[in-house]
Amino acid sequence: MGEYLVKCLGCGSVQPPYALTCQNDDSLLRTEYRSKRLKPKRLPGVWRYFDWLPVREPLRGAGEKPITYKSEGLAKELGLKDLHVGFSGYWPEKGARMATCSFKDLEAPATVQRMIERADGQTLVVSSAGNTARAFAQATSVSGTPLVLVIPSSGLEKLWITETPSDNICVVSVSGDYTEAIDVGSRLATHPGFVGEGGARNVARRDGMGVVMLDAAVTNKSLPRHYFQAIGSGTGGIAAWEASLRLIQDGRFGQNMPKLHLAQNLPCSPVYTAWSGQKVDGSTCPKGMYDDVLYNRKPPYSVKGGVKDALENTGGTVYGITNEEAKDARKLFEEAEEIDILPAAAIAVAALKKAKDSGLVEENESILLNITGGGILRVKEEFELKTLRCDIETEPSALSEDQYLLNEINQILRRS
Ligand SMILES: *Cc1c(COP(=O)(O)O)cnc(C)c1O
Repeated sequence: MGEYLVKCLGCGSVQPPYALTCQNDDSLLRTEYRSKRLKPKRLPGVWRYFDWLPVREPLRGAGEKPITYKSEGLAKELGLKDLHVGFSGYWPEKGARMATCSFKDLEAPATVQRMIERADGQTLVVSSAGNTARAFAQATSVSGTPLVLVIPSSGLEKLWITETPSDNICVVSVSGDYTEAIDVGSRLATHPGFVGEGGARNVARRDGMGVVMLDAAVTNKSLPRHYFQAIGSGTGGIAAWEASLRLIQDGRFGQNMPKLHLAQNLPCSPVYTAWSGQKVDGSTCPKGMYDDVLYNRKPPYSVKGGVKDALENTGGTVYGITNEEAKDARKLFEEAEEIDILPAAAIAVAALKKAKDSGLVEENESILLNITGGGILRVKEEFELKTLRCDIETEPSALSEDQYLLNEINQILRRS
């Protein structure tokens, strides 16, 4: 159980288990699991798929899994006969209990567990404007693992979780935008004692997100023909591809590689632009986005093992979705399936509608629609949400004051 190697996709070399990059080239690293056959475990949540998660033990008390169910309402509206929804969010009536209501809840637990397993006293640094911050705050509040969250000051009010926030979380609020918060976070992570979570380069994030595909394949006993997801970085798309490669190698889920249908919000759509060659003016982004969790300036597109490889290998495509299309799709989904969804997830619904209308998917084909977030209204009925407090306020240009900032962070993390 829990045995794996981390290998570079460029030179093939075996890397240290917690490496984020290869010394020889810029390719993504990928896990190679010793078990080639997926044997679901009698463990709670995502740990059911422990064989294909890069951890030695489950993280106790965290790691709720998504659910897969066959759609009736939306399927009927769109004229589809074999539509399945992978739902990452809170919908207890259907068995979904992901407390921060997005599929970032799939990335955080394995990443945090690996921080515990490496046991080298490093502190994890996460920069995020929204769902990622909440997912990591939730997971580390369960485990007590130290965490530095770097967020733009405008994101502070969105920083709620259902657990009581741990004293081991230090929230740094940057008076600037998301990009400036990322810059501060990346700088912090270069200092001794701190480590960045690594984004798309972190195999635990990718294999955690891959659970949506694993759960669908196990539930339906086969891989779907098509996979739809809203993307910013596209990490979830890479993860779905990698999970499919493993499932095909397993042999019991068919030999068919699902086509990736990835959807971006126009005009903040660098992956759409790179893939389709359509020029769009994204100079005002992320202003006006339907959901700014999909904002990403530097998606891992052409790097080996990245989004372009995933699209080419699966015969996939990318959609550009307007706010208007997303708004209609959200309404369509919510009325047909009777659960609220995050705006980002509506972008995927809109892409599915487009694909059906233009004949890219057919009535009888099996489709997995990844609803990457939902059920916030449902969570609010049942929990008293707890907002994290800001520990340190800083300026984006605080380069010369890094040492001062680090001292403050260290003091806060030692308060407990
Ligand atoms: C992060 C996020 C996405 C996009 O994820 P990628 O990393 O680009 O695959 C989609 N929906 C929601 C709700 C998210 O939080």
